[in-house]
Amino acid sequence: MIEVTADAVAVAVAETEPQKEAPVVIIGSGYAGYNLAEALRQRSSDKEILLFTADDGVIYSKPGLSNALAREKRAVDLISETVLEIEQRLDIRIHARCKVTDIDADQHLLHTDLGEQKYSKLILAQGAAPIRLTFKGSGAEDVLSINDLNDYRRFRDQLEGRKHVTIIGNGLIGCEFANDLSGKGYAVAVIGLTGWPMDRLLPQEIGQQLQTNLSAQNVDWYLENTVEKIDKQAEGYRLTLKDGQVIETGLVISAVGLKPRTELAETAGVTCNRGIVVNGGLRTNVADVYALGDCAEIQGQLLPYIAPINFGVRALADCLLGRPTMAKYPLMPVMVKTPALPLTLLTPAPNQAGEWQVESSETGMRGLYVSSDGRVLGYALAGDLIGERQQWTDKVAAADELSVA
Ligand SMILES: Cc1cc2nc3c(=O)[nH]c(=O)nc-3n(C[C@H](O)[C@H](O)[C@H](O)COP(=O)(O)OP(=O)(O)OC[C@H]3O[C@@H](n4cnc5c(N)ncnc54)[C@H](O)[C@@H]3O)c2cc1C
Repeated sequence: MIEVTADAVAVAVAETEPQKEAPVVIIGSGYAGYNLAEALRQRSSDKEILLFTADDGVIYSKPGLSNALAREKRAVDLISETVLEIEQRLDIRIHARCKVTDIDADQHLLHTDLGEQKYSKLILAQGAAPIRLTFKGSGAEDVLSINDLNDYRRFRDQLEGRKHVTIIGNGLIGCEFANDLSGKGYAVAVIGLTGWPMDRLLPQEIGQQLQTNLSAQNVDWYLENTVEKIDKQAEGYRLTLKDGQVIETGLVISAVGLKPRTELAETAGVTCNRGIVVNGGLRTNVADVYALGDCAEIQGQLLPYIAPINFGVRALADCLLGRPTMAKYPLMPVMVKTPALPLTLLTPAPNQAGEWQVESSETGMRGLYVSSDGRVLGYALAGDLIGERQQWTDKVAAADELSVA
């Protein structure tokens, strides 16, 4: 008589039953990760979706971090959904505070803080990390960056009792924080390498108008300058600038830019340049691995804003469910959160040669970036003229079609 053990039965069943497909795995709980999970769930009620995130996984509005003071929001007020609520709403499993450390693309296997996990498709939605400059001095390590909710919580704690804040970086995010802080009565110093605020996005005249308006609400500018040394004081910090000027301040914030997180992708052999390189379908060079959001470099461009994620999500969700789709990106103007001078911009595509032409009226300014043959390639509108946004977006779209024809 042949004895049939329980183990043998289990093996036989496993051999005859079809293998259960591994889940779709998303890495990252930012706007990209969660919006993709939602789009997938809308299209498929039974697809298994698993999400890993290094942070605590709550939903909050990242763009809202740079005007949260004006809206009197503490970190906790910015949370719109907890992990449990998201799991129940989307019928997904979320592993919060769990970092993915390595990808074995051949085995479709992830190594995480909690152990190993198989995937059928993998989406990298890891965002971008603040660039950290190195400074001399005992206070150099205390410089804050505000790129997520935990950073904002730390910032609010440390702001307590301070009256003066220094921002390193005169770009879009630095100017938004300068406006938010000065609007709430803090004295602010902005230090920047270049000649006027947001110089990469604005013509000089409009950048200088923003500078003037923010100066009127207690923002001091230290342009074409940089920080040499940050020393801790009994109260706050003493900054020594390259030109020898000294600033006494309560808190130092760095807003010098973000770098897409590419290190994990590199462990899987994914091609990375400035970001994780994807094609128009958000597919990397490695089978079944995709990237979306601030970590991705889409056809040579970083698009670190909300609107491109929205357009990418739709195409990627279809693609992951077997309907290959290329994401289409319309022209996407950016609204800058500087109420001292409301701004709307449409930056020209890279490598498009042109010159700024600026006109001012009583109520606003209009900067048009115009090619040598008269086509409008981009714009910056300020004050009441932000109302002309649609009209000039249409003009840029028409110029775009002309250049393709
Ligand atoms: C202050 C500020 C203001 C902004 N204002 C605007 C605005 O007004 N308009 C606009 O369009 N855009 C704005 N942006 C940009 C916009 O917020 C971003 O483009 C968008 O939020 C990026 O979302 P994301 O999901 O790609 O990345 P993130 O939100 O950064 O999410 C990345 C996620 O990946 C996780 N992660 C990373 N590595 C790992 C790992 N190894 N394992 C597990 N998890 C990992 C992180 O924990 C995080 O959950 C602003 C950005 C900032 C910082």
